[in-house]
Amino acid sequence: MLEMAREAVRETADNGHSSPVFASLVREYEKLVRQSRRLVTMGDRMQQTLNDLNRNLALSEHKFRSIFENVTEGIYRCDEGGRFVEVNPAMAAMFGCQGPESFIRTVGELHRIFCDHEDFHLYEALLAAGDARRYEVRVCGPGDESLWVEISASMVGGDEAKGVRAGVVGVLVDVTERKRMIEEMCRLARTDSMTGMWNRGYFMELAGRELNRARRSGGELSLIMLDVDHFKAINDTHGHDVGDVALMELARVIGESVREVDVAARLGGEEFAVMLPDTSAEDACAVAVRIARTIRRAVVDSPRGPVSMTVSMGLASFEESKDSLDSLLKYSDIALYAAKKNGRDRVETYRRSVCPRSVRGVACDDGEA
Ligand code: GH3
Ligand code: MG
Ligand code: MG
Repeated sequence: MLEMAREAVRETADNGHSSPVFASLVREYEKLVRQSRRLVTMGDRMQQTLNDLNRNLALSEHKFRSIFENVTEGIYRCDEGGRFVEVNPAMAAMFGCQGPESFIRTVGELHRIFCDHEDFHLYEALLAAGDARRYEVRVCGPGDESLWVEISASMVGGDEAKGVRAGVVGVLVDVTERKRMIEEMCRLARTDSMTGMWNRGYFMELAGRELNRARRSGGELSLIMLDVDHFKAINDTHGHDVGDVALMELARVIGESVREVDVAARLGGEEFAVMLPDTSAEDACAVAVRIARTIRRAVVDSPRGPVSMTVSMGLASFEESKDSLDSLLKYSDIALYAAKKNGRDRVETYRRSVCPRSVRGVACDDGEA
């Protein structure tokens, strides 16, 4: 058609009847044709870009899906009312459900996974503050079981200006095993492996707490230090293994003789300590004598005949607010030393109210056959 128009221009020129209007029309027409070609090229390029975008989108959707389906962490999406919209298979499995659909059908709403409703309120507050990151909380697992999980969540798609509430996406990591291992490590770090009693380090921590409490409340508090008499001779006669059994028996007797609020520990070797909150020196002495008498009666079997043992104890009580744990340990140690010196198998109480400071003793075989 363009060619036809050019022909027409040429003909009119040949005929000497050149029309400027016609020529200008043809030029305009040529311009339009060029523009439309450019548009077609641009359209093709746009289509190409769109195709690339769609392909990339499908690819990243595929990648996201395979991550969503295969990760071991639970992933969930809730609507603005806290109802589950989508969860991945790992999340369903964590809660003992066959699959995502079954989970959404049975659990329904996010708040129902929390064992304690207070924890859910805290989660919501953290979420609102944009700080729900690695929030460690107990959730209800399959059956009666509960799990410890770490939740990281954030709000999505809300519009405050338009009053549209946001939905939530979150990730749950099952940290039950990690938590159990940390607890076990803490327990091992705090206990004496042979007797199962608290060790010296943890005793110092717990006893320090009790002392602070007594200082604040003005309450009474007593400390008993205990050492087995002539324990070396037991080892030498019956062997180290029998000595170990004797120490375990001793730990058992101490454990059964004190209250739950008392703090009993093996300080090391054949030395033990008991911190008794809200207990006067007199009452603590009665506990100490009871322990000593029970130990005298306990017998440990050995190939070389039955083993019996006695213990000496030193007792000190909290009297002045400036008393520290170290000073109480020192006073009870002085009393223990006196018990050894005064014949063993006895309890001595450190007395600072009398001058010179002294100890007062009770022989533990008093009144015994
Ligand atoms: P005393 O009446 O003066 O306290 O005399 P003792 O023999 O009990 O005191 P000494 O401190 O001389 O001995 C303590 C012994 O305790 C020495 C050590 O071998 C033993 N001992 C320390 N820890 C353990 C343990 O875990 N198992 C066994 N079997 N013996 C231990
Ligand atoms: Mg000793
Ligand atoms: Mg000893």
